[in-house]
Amino acid sequence: MPTHEVLNQSVPLPPFDAFRSDVALSEAIERGEGGWCGDRLSALGSIVGSPEIEELAREANRNPPELKAHDRFGHRIDEVTFHPSYHRLMALGKTHGVHSASWLRGGSPGAFVGRSGLHYLFVQAEYGVCCPLTMTHAVIPSLRKSPSVAATWEPRVLENAYDPRLVSADQKTGVTFGMAMTEKQGGSDVRTNTTVARPAPEGGVRLVGHKWFCSAPMSDAFLTLAQGPDGLTCYLVPRVLPDGTRNPLHIQRLKDKLGNRSNASSEIEYHETWAEPVGDPGRGVATIIEMVAQTRLDVATGSAAAMRQAVRYAIHHATHRSAFGATLIQQPLMRNVLADLALETEAAVALSFRIAAAFDRGRTDPGEAAFARVGTAIAKYWLAKRVIGLTAEALECHGGNGYAEDWPMARLYREAPLGSIWEGSGNVQCLDVLRAIHKSPASLAALWAELERPRGMDRRLDALLDSIKAELGDRETLQHRARRITERVALALQAGLLLRHAPPALAEAFLAGRLADGGLMYGNLPVGVDLDAILERTAAPA
Ligand SMILES: Cc1cc2nc3c(=O)[nH]c(=O)nc-3n(C[C@H](O)[C@H](O)[C@H](O)COP(=O)(O)OP(=O)(O)OC[C@H]3O[C@@H](n4cnc5c(N)ncnc54)[C@H](O)[C@@H]3O)c2cc1C
Repeated sequence: MPTHEVLNQSVPLPPFDAFRSDVALSEAIERGEGGWCGDRLSALGSIVGSPEIEELAREANRNPPELKAHDRFGHRIDEVTFHPSYHRLMALGKTHGVHSASWLRGGSPGAFVGRSGLHYLFVQAEYGVCCPLTMTHAVIPSLRKSPSVAATWEPRVLENAYDPRLVSADQKTGVTFGMAMTEKQGGSDVRTNTTVARPAPEGGVRLVGHKWFCSAPMSDAFLTLAQGPDGLTCYLVPRVLPDGTRNPLHIQRLKDKLGNRSNASSEIEYHETWAEPVGDPGRGVATIIEMVAQTRLDVATGSAAAMRQAVRYAIHHATHRSAFGATLIQQPLMRNVLADLALETEAAVALSFRIAAAFDRGRTDPGEAAFARVGTAIAKYWLAKRVIGLTAEALECHGGNGYAEDWPMARLYREAPLGSIWEGSGNVQCLDVLRAIHKSPASLAALWAELERPRGMDRRLDALLDSIKAELGDRETLQHRARRITERVALALQAGLLLRHAPPALAEAFLAGRLADGGLMYGNLPVGVDLDAILERTAAPA
């Protein structure tokens, strides 16, 4: 309506290279020997930073997948249809090797770090499609527990092609994998799984039972857990059998979810579903945990990525919006909030990519492997928690626009809590930290080796390390204190990494704001912290 002139609204984010503009990421990639992936990261970074991708992400979430349980004649078909934008995003992710780059790089240094960079960028394209991409990447170590299974499936997984047809895997140019563990009676405690696996006359087993959560149900195959003759065992369930007929895997319904709307998450029934064992019989948890370790790392790097994306939008908005005579970004209190969010993101990138580097180095260094074991749970817990508050705060920086669906923040806000639930909820991660450090002396030694590296660089960090040591020495009430311990260890790791690798102004801000004089909300950095240095580094042009 011609009632007024539109003034003082923000402008669309101009195209940018999500890799080159991310100084913290570039430095973490270099530190972790992921430089081999630089050109690919930059290529993907410019695509992720294009307005077209923002629109695809919006469309994929506004047009969620639909279940077609039956065809119009009443035959059961169990198909899920997706909007074309979802398929385009999946094709993009697969073409860029988000699911394969580390494995194709073999055991070379920096393989996981480089590929984690691709994942980090792709999370900023669209979080939902990262679920099938992540699971497809993560399945390899579990498949390798059974060389004959790996020989058949690994080459198909590693193809950088997206082929959504529901046909047998041997006819496809590339496949995707899912993972189905959670049942109605328990997800954290998968030992309570009731699905049974009975030997099939033709070889393999037939499954009878259900799964309460099974994301990406149009995947070509799933790893699942079932009670076999020797106890809980991991099985591979193909969606379509080699003869071209559909394996009886029935999709009961799709979850009506808070967020992650582009991605289908389903409830499924196994009704004499054919499957083949993977790994040792009765060692199902030990087999599938290899896959889960990978997906947990992706939750950690993905949480850092989601922070980065939220902070970028917040800084952009605050740069273009004015109130009370100055742009928001010029207002001292808003500068404190934005710098604090940027600081949290820096610390998240540093921690998550340090763990990714431990995955790489752990192939030849047992100490690094032990650090990866405990560090993954620490980073997964802490970063998946921190991103929730950070996203809410970044949304608030947009004022009312942040709450409106025309803008991206509402979608990012709905995604934010998911990382703290799937792949093991928060408490489960903290209990896993305790388990790792008490059952494995190597993990405890590796954790302390990392924690002690910056000893002597700052008295506030030294004091925190001493108090963590005292807390761990007290074996009483450990479970009660598991969150406190994990949180303090995570903070100490982040502070140490920033002291050793970040510009001094950032490290000082983190120590002052998180270890010494911090408040409970973002935007509590004490007076004297160099906000300009943090904001300039975060808003680097590219
Ligand atoms: C969108 C979405 C997609 C998903 N996709 C998949 C999928 O593809 N495949 C799959 O297998 N699963 C999937 N899940 C399920 C997810 O992994 C589980 O929901 C999660 O592991 C928690 O299990 P639960 O829901 O049974 O909760 P519970 O195990 O009942 O846990 C409830 C709460 O209790 C806490 N808790 C549990 N044990 C303890 C303890 N000993 N001490 C203290 N606290 C404890 C947990 O931390 C949690 O906060 C998905 C979930 C969501 C939301």
